[in-house]
Amino acid sequence: MNNLVSPSITSGNHPWQTTILKSKSFNGIGLHSGNLIKVTLKPGRENTGIVFIRTDIDKKIKERSIQALYSNVSDTSLCTTIENKYGIKISTIEHLMAAFNGAGIDNIIIELNGPEVPIMDGSSLPFIEIIEDCGIQSLKMKRKILKILRKIEVTVDNKYCSFTPSSDQKFSVEIDFENEAVGKQSASTSLTNYNFKNFASNARTFGFIKDVEYMRSQGLGLGGSIDNCIIVDKNEIINPEGLRHENEFSRHKLLDAVGDIYTSGYRIQGSYQGLRCGHYINNLLLHELFKSNENYEIVEYSDTPYQEFNRGIESNYLAS
Ligand SMILES: [Zn+2]
Repeated sequence: MNNLVSPSITSGNHPWQTTILKSKSFNGIGLHSGNLIKVTLKPGRENTGIVFIRTDIDKKIKERSIQALYSNVSDTSLCTTIENKYGIKISTIEHLMAAFNGAGIDNIIIELNGPEVPIMDGSSLPFIEIIEDCGIQSLKMKRKILKILRKIEVTVDNKYCSFTPSSDQKFSVEIDFENEAVGKQSASTSLTNYNFKNFASNARTFGFIKDVEYMRSQGLGLGGSIDNCIIVDKNEIINPEGLRHENEFSRHKLLDAVGDIYTSGYRIQGSYQGLRCGHYINNLLLHELFKSNENYEIVEYSDTPYQEFNRGIESNYLAS
C-alpha cells in the first residue's frame, strides 16, 4: 500500500517518488487563445514523469501525449510550449510545471481539451491549491535527483543563467527593467520545506500595455486582463489592487525558472542563478547541462548522506 504524505513534507527532500492521490478537473481561460479550457489532473505511476495529453484530438494516445521535457520545448517566445514528434503542442506549461516542482510532484498526467494550459490568476497558487485538494501520495520507487557537479552557464546578449553545485535546490533571479514600476529587483529562495508556495507561488505574470496592444493585434493575449496579469502602463501599475509583493516581478521570474527548469525531468540538487532570464535562456541552460555527463550525476537518496537532504523537514514523514 502507498504511504500517504502531507504536502508540507514533499517539497524536496522526500526520498520516494510522488503523485497526486486522486484526480481532479478544473476550467480556466487560455491567456493567448482566450478560450475556456478543461484540465484534468490524474495520478501517474512510478517513472511516468510529467505527461500532458490532448483530449480534443482524435489520434492514438501516444500521438497526442507530450512529455514535459526540455528536449520537447519547441517555442519560448511568449511562454514555454512543448511539442511531440507528431506536431501536437501544448503552450504556457511553465506555471503548472512550477507548481509540480514546488509541491514535489514527480509523476502526473494532465489532460487538456485545448492547446494551452489555463492562465488562472497569472500565478501558480491556484495550481498548488488544486494539487493540495487532490492530496499527494508517495510511490514505491526512489526519487532520482540530478546533482550538479560543476558550474554550467549560458549568456545570450545581456541575459545570463547558470547552475552551480549546492546542497539543495535553490533559485536566485535578478531583473533590470528601464521601466520605473519594475526597475531592478531580485528574489531568491530554496525549494525545500515547501518554500515555493509561500515565497513565489502567488507572484503573477506581468506585461507592458504597449506589448499587450501589439499582441492583441497579432491575435495573441486574447485572454489577458488585470484578472490574470499585472499590467504596467508607462511607470504605473494599472491593477487597482496593486502588487502582492514589493518584488512580485522578480518573484514571478523565479517562478518561471522553477517551472522551466523542471523540464529537466528531475528534481535538481544545485543552485540556479538568472539575470534578466526568460524561457529561452532557461531552455538553453538545460541543453548545455545535458551536453556532457561530467556536468551532473543522477543519484537516489540512498546514495547520499541522509542528513544532507533532511534539512528543515519534519521528521515524521517516514512514520507512515
Ligand atoms: Zn510566467
